[in-house]
Amino acid sequence: MSELMIKDLHVNVEGNEILKGLSLTVRQGEIHALMGPNGTGKSTLAYTLMGHPNYEVTGGEVLFKGQNILELAPDERAHLGLFLAFQYPVAIPGVTVANFLRTAINAHRKAADPEDKGISIPEFRKLLKERMDLLQMEHSVAGRYLNDGFSGGEKKRAEILQMVTLQPEIAILDETDSGLDIDALRIVAEGVNAMRGAAFGALVITHYQRILNYIQPDFVHVMLDGRVVESGGPELAHRLEADGYDWLREKHSQVAV
Ligand code: ADP
Ligand code: MG
Repeated sequence: MSELMIKDLHVNVEGNEILKGLSLTVRQGEIHALMGPNGTGKSTLAYTLMGHPNYEVTGGEVLFKGQNILELAPDERAHLGLFLAFQYPVAIPGVTVANFLRTAINAHRKAADPEDKGISIPEFRKLLKERMDLLQMEHSVAGRYLNDGFSGGEKKRAEILQMVTLQPEIAILDETDSGLDIDALRIVAEGVNAMRGAAFGALVITHYQRILNYIQPDFVHVMLDGRVVESGGPELAHRLEADGYDWLREKHSQVAV
């Protein structure tokens, strides 16, 4: 069973300490929600886990399947089975959704087996069609340049399409729910729920409890000022929805902002 173990992680961004000793473990088969007010470092965690060069790890460790992934390049982390859906997906004009996905699938296959010849075109078409149907995406999206001119909802669906196509062992979804209307939210959640099972774990980063009505988390964690300060079950998310974050700030003697 794969496990992503984050231990006492400290991360600097442009010289400022943003993550201040964050610990969290996500195993295959578990859905974790990570909640917290804006600016607490949720995206910093997501980017650090995938190896963004601007995020400087100054302490702690991150193990995935027992390996220290902090010394691996982002593509090597992905080949191990980690996936990140971005809060702000970038457009890649000139690269179609289909080409992007086929290249990603082939890169994964080649990393697993250097002799691999890649997925055949008919096999890929079938897979893509099936997964786009799951997310109720127009097939014409496959021929569009990735995220180029996409609406907020289309971008988020494209992120989830990558996830359901690449079938990671652990996925980190960074505010995939933000900017989605209720229908898109439901579809995105269905994508995650379709992956749910013993072979899939997720860290669902969210600002609002709303998406957790559709993706039932096994565990809920709350971040304040660069650390996880509270962990519990789904009831913790409901408490936050009702009471906000102030009680936690007080409990952990933070100054309310
Ligand atoms: P969250 O996702 O919880 O809203 P972020 O991780 O985006 O929080 O941001 C945490 C803090 O780090 C904020 O104060 C933000 O201004 C700062 N920060 C994040 N990324 C950068 C960056 N690339 N450059 C400068 N500051 C950053
Ligand atoms: Mg964020």
